[in-house]
Amino acid sequence: MSQSVYVGIDLGGTSVKIGVCNESGQLLHKYEGPTRAKAPADEVVRDIANYVRAAVAEASFTWDQVAGVGAGIAGMMDLKSGVVKLAANLGWTNVPIRQMLQDELGKPVGIDNDANVAALGEAWSGAGAGLANVVCFTLGTGVGGGIIVDYKIYTGFHGMAGEIGHLPSIIDGTGRTCGCGLNGCLETIASATGIIRSAIEAVEDGQATSMSNGPIDSAKVVFDAAKSGDAVAMRIVRDAGHHLGRAMATLTVVLDAERFVVGGGVSAAGEILFSPIREAYAKYTVAALRESVQIVPAALGNDAGVIGAAGLMIGG
Ligand SMILES: [Zn+2]
Repeated sequence: MSQSVYVGIDLGGTSVKIGVCNESGQLLHKYEGPTRAKAPADEVVRDIANYVRAAVAEASFTWDQVAGVGAGIAGMMDLKSGVVKLAANLGWTNVPIRQMLQDELGKPVGIDNDANVAALGEAWSGAGAGLANVVCFTLGTGVGGGIIVDYKIYTGFHGMAGEIGHLPSIIDGTGRTCGCGLNGCLETIASATGIIRSAIEAVEDGQATSMSNGPIDSAKVVFDAAKSGDAVAMRIVRDAGHHLGRAMATLTVVLDAERFVVGGGVSAAGEILFSPIREAYAKYTVAALRESVQIVPAALGNDAGVIGAAGLMIGG
């Protein structure tokens, strides 16, 4: 019998990444092509289908060996009907992407949002490999999340489960307004955007910090200052870590996850961020769940998206 393969699509605003995986989530081949974001959706879908066929051919598999195709998309989706309700970076509203891809490819297709598929990728063959219950945090421009329960993405009633960036974190009304319209959400403090904003506010407030000597245009500027002992930067990083750890403690009593995986650009900060996360987690977690739950960095980097998208098609 020839081996079955699963194809994952990571559909972004500038490029489409394709990954061909085996049934254990090993990435066998990668392919990338441009996204014609200004083109009509049916043309973009035709491009994607061509990339998928090219990726499978390049990897020396036959089309018959493709057991399923999954796609991760940044946007709001109706998972039941397989329709992208809104994908701002593609300029899409109400695109029935699952049906369109199925028609083009003649294969079963699954879709989910980018944060969920990245979480599934990490749980399938990355930092949560082999575990049934994993929660992933993606720390980037915002704070994204994905919840894996019994090896599957938990989507919730509206498909909105895992929006952990909007956990209430500053609850006394002194927090910043979030993109979602609420006040004091986790991502207003712990995303790259939130960390940069905290640093700029500290400088504007006249606090003594080395960060006032140059532009604060990335979270890395803040992490580098913290690593060199800048007290203001250290406080900002500790604060971000504290709120992340407390959010994990909140989630752990609800989900009883086995492991928290932290990825995204901000997670590259390393121990300086992970140490306050673990401290806050220990402080706010019930004793029975304190020692057994690990908080670890993501392992798959940018490949998590294509691997997790392929994983949408694994049954069981
Ligand atoms: Zn929010």
